Amino acid sequence: MNVYDSERIGELLEAEGYAAAPDAARADVVVLNTCHIREKAAEKVYSDIGRLKASRRPNGIKPVVVVAGCVAQAEGAEIVRRAPAVDVVVGPNAYHRLPAMLKAGGVDTDMPVESKFAVLPPRRAVVPASAFLTVQEGCDKFCTFCVVPYTRGAELSRPADALVAEAEALVAGGARELTLLGQNVNAYRDVTTSFADLLARIAAVRGLVRLRYTTSHPRDMNDELIAAHRDLPQLMPYLHLPVQSGSDRLLKAMNRAHTRASYLAILDRLRAARADIALSGDFIVGFPGETDADFAATLSIVREVGYAQAYSFKYSPRPGTPAATMGEQVPEDVKDARLAELQATIGETALAFNRASVGKRCDVLLERPGRRPGQLIGKSPWLQSVFVVSPSAKIGDIVTVDLIDAQPNSLEGAPVILTRAAA
Ligand code: SAH
Ligand code: SF4
Repeated sequence: MNVYDSERIGELLEAEGYAAAPDAARADVVVLNTCHIREKAAEKVYSDIGRLKASRRPNGIKPVVVVAGCVAQAEGAEIVRRAPAVDVVVGPNAYHRLPAMLKAGGVDTDMPVESKFAVLPPRRAVVPASAFLTVQEGCDKFCTFCVVPYTRGAELSRPADALVAEAEALVAGGARELTLLGQNVNAYRDVTTSFADLLARIAAVRGLVRLRYTTSHPRDMNDELIAAHRDLPQLMPYLHLPVQSGSDRLLKAMNRAHTRASYLAILDRLRAARADIALSGDFIVGFPGETDADFAATLSIVREVGYAQAYSFKYSPRPGTPAATMGEQVPEDVKDARLAELQATIGETALAFNRASVGKRCDVLLERPGRRPGQLIGKSPWLQSVFVVSPSAKIGDIVTVDLIDAQPNSLEGAPVILTRAAA
């Protein structure tokens, strides 16, 4: 979502006459779009500010430094106290006010009633083959470890008509795949438009070949949405559905509102709708009170599901969240050991998933150049990175390949025929 917000901030500043600098070292204005989800990400901001403010441009001037995103929202004026050289602090719901703030300076962590989306300038004329589209923001779920409900505010869905219009603009600009984004994207609802309805409307945009969405919450995975995985050919067979832990005791302490069994039951229904669906998830190790038995339950759910990929994190106490003040905080060395074991297990299931793909024929959307001459990297329907050597193909093309070799994080594809070249 920060990638999406950064694109919109870029467009906003371009509309004001700014142009993108080749790198931060040469920029007159640097916007740090920050993340507050874990302490490490949040602390990095202060070292970045220090480095930027110590630097000089060729004309001897110091860059203007803007702190945007969720660290700005959470810490507000505290940032200016800790780093007085910062010129502007602007939260994720107020960045449409950035042009005025660049003139006046200051701190704005308002969650204004007027939506930033209503006032942001139109999308760029040229966009990547695979583009993001934020459809929903905020969270009402209050997992006990998480800052998102505080930094991003309440769940809010954008109007469906505006989203279809933005999707059309992105496709006109060259996007062939869209990923719909939200903190809880499947909590989307606009008056009478459900999330499944929105998927169907966007899938119908002419020229759009692939559709994805992330991140979903198990609680909002309803029958209608599961049926969309059966009925919409554009919807790719991949779902990121975080579970966080395999232990019911911990899921309860996390306030996740699902159990191991109810989560697995959702996956069964999904597989019944779309047999080849690839699954991904998020995991936290070292949540307060996590025992060896709880952690073993997490390892076993990873094996049971056979994730195609997954993200795993050491629990990071966040200020103001209930879990931060719970007793039984897990020592750092235990967290380290559990994270390493979990990541090794995820690595095994991911490699097994990739190996099972060898021999399949599929379409790959080419997104970027590879390291070898003539090599391009794209994504399979199951979101695997696929290396393709095809001198006649270019970025934005969809090539049909035979998957011939598997690594833990990628596959090799041999082109069969070039189909549907980008316009
Ligand atoms: N809304 C999504 C997740 C958004 S946050 C969901 O509920 O599934 C992305 C991921 O960051 C979470 O899934 C969780 O695994 C991780 N995360 C959030 N807070 C964390 C914390 N305090 N420490 C470690 N990881 C955390
Ligand atoms: Fe955070 Fe996701 Fe839980 Fe919301 S549902 S509190 S974003 S982990």
